[in-house]
Amino acid sequence: MIEITNLTKRFAHHTAVDNLSFSVAPGEVLGFLGPNGAGKSTTMKMLTGFLAPTSGSASVFGFDIQKQTLKAQREIGYLPEGAPCYGDMTVRGFLEFIAEIRGFRGAEKKARVAQAAGQVELEKVLGQSIETLSKGFKRRVGLAQAILHDPRVLILDEPTDGLDPNQKHQVRQLIQSLARDKIVIISTHILEEVTAVCTRALVIAAGKRVADGTPFELESRSRYHQAV
Ligand code: ADP
Ligand code: ADP
Repeated sequence: MIEITNLTKRFAHHTAVDNLSFSVAPGEVLGFLGPNGAGKSTTMKMLTGFLAPTSGSASVFGFDIQKQTLKAQREIGYLPEGAPCYGDMTVRGFLEFIAEIRGFRGAEKKARVAQAAGQVELEKVLGQSIETLSKGFKRRVGLAQAILHDPRVLILDEPTDGLDPNQKHQVRQLIQSLARDKIVIISTHILEEVTAVCTRALVIAAGKRVADGTPFELESRSRYHQAV
């Protein structure tokens, strides 16, 4: 369960997230939809504990992200926006490094890496340098690092951005399989992403919630707006 209450972030002269409240329950795949600059990434960063809110709060399975940060982060896997720079590490080397940061050692570390790699179908490229992989496979590496500690919540910032249609399709299928036992929040500016994988759509604009419903309702409304 995720609870967001009156979450607000003000930068110098600009309110990026404005008194946002919502909750997300197990079983939901929430599409967090809005145009560029709407406040999506800022919200994701506050949810994961990487940015402090100006006011308001967020909790994950009862752990307040500001007051019990490490316990809350234990429940969260995060795929940040954009392509991280991996240097010439191999997939295995990188995932073992992340596993170490997460506190896993020895056989446990190897088992975690093997399991996460299996879940996102990376087994065949474990020995390859990440830089040599396609964008789609790099994104799978991003997903694998997010699920290494088996979190109950997955927060994905623009997970298919920059991928070709085939890679998008594959990454979406992986997200749907991960969603079987995790709450998933996907930040995106693409309606199609939400209709393809989400059970619920929350639309934000200028930091405020402007719609919350099923992707079908949202799509019908957007067709209606296009028609009139
Ligand atoms: P989105 O992810 O929806 O594109 P962001 O959350 O990145 O939107 O940004 C929301 C607004 O906050 C934008 O107007 C952006 O310019 C502003 N913003 C984001 N981060 C900062 C920052 N560190 N300092 C000042 N303004 C910021
Ligand atoms: P702090 O500000 O408390 O030093 P860190 O940035 O070190 O926080 O991160 C805290 C936790 O979040 C660590 O367990 C770290 O492995 C994890 N973490 C950091 N970046 C990411 C990321 N991009 N995706 C998932 N987990 C991350």
